[in-house]
Amino acid sequence: MQPIQNIFPLLAQPKNIVITTHQKPDADAMGSSLALYHFLNQFGHHITVISPTNWAAFLNWMPGCKQVLDFEIQTAKATEAINTADWIFCLDFNTMMRTKRMEEKLLAATAEKILIDHHREPQMDVFTYGISDTGKSSTAEMIYDFIIGSDHADKINEAISECLYAGVMTDTGSFRFPSTKASVHKMVAHLKDLGLQHSPVHEELFDNFLENRFRFIGHVLLNRMEVFYEYNTALIVIPQADLIKYDVRTGDTEGLVNYPLSIKGIKLAAVIIDRGEERKSSFRSKGDFDVNSFARKYFNGGGHFNAAGGFNKEPLEEVVTKFKAAIKENTTQLSSYKF
Ligand code: 5GP
Ligand code: MN
Repeated sequence: MQPIQNIFPLLAQPKNIVITTHQKPDADAMGSSLALYHFLNQFGHHITVISPTNWAAFLNWMPGCKQVLDFEIQTAKATEAINTADWIFCLDFNTMMRTKRMEEKLLAATAEKILIDHHREPQMDVFTYGISDTGKSSTAEMIYDFIIGSDHADKINEAISECLYAGVMTDTGSFRFPSTKASVHKMVAHLKDLGLQHSPVHEELFDNFLENRFRFIGHVLLNRMEVFYEYNTALIVIPQADLIKYDVRTGDTEGLVNYPLSIKGIKLAAVIIDRGEERKSSFRSKGDFDVNSFARKYFNGGGHFNAAGGFNKEPLEEVVTKFKAAIKENTTQLSSYKF
């Protein structure tokens, strides 16, 4: 993989470009993709932004979101764009598996693939150019660095600012995670100097839910959460029936895992959801428990040191049994807290 800087001199030549990200994109995935779209658009490229799946409705306000193709619905149009692309930017993921059914199309494409990502253990061999930096707060911050590094700071407009802010703010847990270095605040200060209105971004992302989501959260916290004090672990298990009963939509379960994590003494929090086609898990930890390795070892997943996810094809009960066995196996790392 050649350094990302090697594409800076090539930016001025118009190309067919695809920008894509991981399945069920979050605000960092969508925000970094659209910020890059609004940046590259100013060079006269032909650009298609493709999401491997649908996304949460609370992202629809982002400038350009309406033009994003959902690969699962607009498969033919998206495939055509992938097959005729010169460059494919892969943002906020680092293993092709995270693009689900798009994986085989991306691997077969003749385009040069360009990685910009901050997750652990990237699949380096498939990318021609790229940057992988686990020290970065968000992919949005890396897109900002890309724009500044290519010496085009003057191209940062309102749309880019809003998309970048949404990504960096959500991926840092509203600037609370240790990844929130001075560079993050400097970037936000720069965007503010350029006129960014940050409050509307928070309102769009966090004050836009329907009543049923809160009924669902109430039900889940009361009836679906188990605390294993001996392992400093809390687990929420959600059967598919709950998703149907409460009309749960994509994005409604985002952030749920933070409730058990905020219980005093809890080092590991997990949510396992039966989505029908697969069992999706989310892991969060505090301190020195590495959920990236945990998710990789037991749940076909990965992510960051303190935030990771995975998926399993086995039935829900088997995944839960697996989780309980896994925390038992990790007793030494998990049981250090004294109540
Ligand atoms: P979440 O729990 O919010 O779905 O994901 C937490 C973090 O782990 C995110 O950075 C996400 O990109 C990553 N992640 C989630 N699921 C998977 C997965 O199945 N595989 C890998 N490699 N990373 C994941
Ligand atoms: Mn991210």
